[in-house]
Amino acid sequence: MIYDYIVVGSGISGISSAKILSEKKKKVKILEAKPYTGGLVHCEISSGNLYHKVGGHVFNSKNEDVLAWFWKYFDKENEFIPAKRNAQIWMNNSFFGYPLENFLYKLPEDILKKVINDILALSSQKEKPPMHYDNFEQFLKGNFGETLYELYFHPYNQKIWQFDLSQVPMEWLKGKLPMPNYRDIILQNILQKEESDMVHSSFYYPKRGGSQFIIDRLAEGLDINCNEPVTEISYENDVWTLNKKWKTKNIVYTGDVRNLRKISQPHFAYLDKLFDTIEKLPSHGTSNLLCECDKTDLSWLYIPEKKFKTHRIIYTGNFSPYNNSNNNGDRISCTVEFSGEQDLKTMTEEIKKLPGNLKALDSNKEKNSYIIHRKNTQTSISQLQKELNNKNFILLGRFAEWEYYNMDKAIEKALSYFQPM
Ligand SMILES: Cc1cc2nc3c(=O)[nH]c(=O)nc-3n(C[C@H](O)[C@H](O)[C@H](O)COP(=O)(O)OP(=O)(O)OC[C@H]3O[C@@H](n4cnc5c(N)ncnc54)[C@H](O)[C@@H]3O)c2cc1C
Repeated sequence: MIYDYIVVGSGISGISSAKILSEKKKKVKILEAKPYTGGLVHCEISSGNLYHKVGGHVFNSKNEDVLAWFWKYFDKENEFIPAKRNAQIWMNNSFFGYPLENFLYKLPEDILKKVINDILALSSQKEKPPMHYDNFEQFLKGNFGETLYELYFHPYNQKIWQFDLSQVPMEWLKGKLPMPNYRDIILQNILQKEESDMVHSSFYYPKRGGSQFIIDRLAEGLDINCNEPVTEISYENDVWTLNKKWKTKNIVYTGDVRNLRKISQPHFAYLDKLFDTIEKLPSHGTSNLLCECDKTDLSWLYIPEKKFKTHRIIYTGNFSPYNNSNNNGDRISCTVEFSGEQDLKTMTEEIKKLPGNLKALDSNKEKNSYIIHRKNTQTSISQLQKELNNKNFILLGRFAEWEYYNMDKAIEKALSYFQPM
């Protein structure tokens, strides 16, 4: 049998691509390396609590097409819970609202004065095009000032990206960064509204099963083989063969683009130079602890200070009561996230220093979760995409396109490829 499409990977990119293609009556198969579906958004139940294995995932989109497609498959009122975004920043043993620039009035007076001086100086500068800067460090300093950069933006972003921010090119960040509006910052600091009163502050979260519920529902009716890592791809007479047994006219590859040369030799040998660059792209992983903590009304807590290794706690227990082993108790579940590889001892020692009486329940490490761009990464990937598209080989998703996608963006990309067909 020759499939119309074989999709490599069952993360949100692979599942939504296969779903859209099956809506078009295409014969589609998904091959997934792991024993389970979902990729980065995979969740399990651990000691009765919902565990987002790679950090908490919530779904949100501003794209009407994505929302219209998504909600066809779910009963918004009965299967989802509207959740409030209530993020805070924990610094110097105190809680600050998020984003920090809207809560400057909570800073100690000496620091506040410096920040105000920076902001006044920046706001009186001539208008700059938003992407005027060469790199992420310059962008943050140029828009928020040196004081906020040193206090918050640098330590927080350095922890997440584990990469010199001056080496992060702006092309990667286009459209992904909030631009500060000095008038709004001043107004917000006078009005002193809490984040939960702001317009962008609510989202929908599955009542049961977290992001795995989304994957499982979209996967209904799809033909998926788990435990099937694609290790060999060959091409003859316009037909692709995967692992010597699965034949297809088209491949949608959502795995790591850096592994492509290895599994597709010798078919892309003519692209060797391009692969030399692509295989060197840097990435790093995440580690996390599923914990139990005191009840709180927070959804996220950002932890910028260098003395902590963690950068964020996500209070998944607040998004749905079914995420907690004890629905009525005074404790909820949460996930403490660390960038990169951290050992269990370091993580369990760290939570003793954090607020909320955290108790570790489970842990996980993911080798690759954050992609890092270098200058010209986008150009190399676009070039590769163009070459592969000619052979009906489509790259799609966070690691295949080397793009910092969220779930909604992955769906948007799948829609843009396959819906017009
Ligand atoms: C800590 C963290 C928090 C996040 N929070 C959010 C959030 O709150 N909201 C949001 O929308 N997004 C969030 N994201 C982003 C989101 O996780 C990704 O956008 C999304 O999961 C990417 O999906 P994907 O299908 O492109 O890739 P993946 O999820 O990586 O899926 C790729 C799949 O392909 C499989 N695969 C790879 N190679 C092969 C092979 N050779 N053969 C067979 N199978 C293969 C993998 O096993 C995997 O299952 C977060 C990401 C991280 C790291």
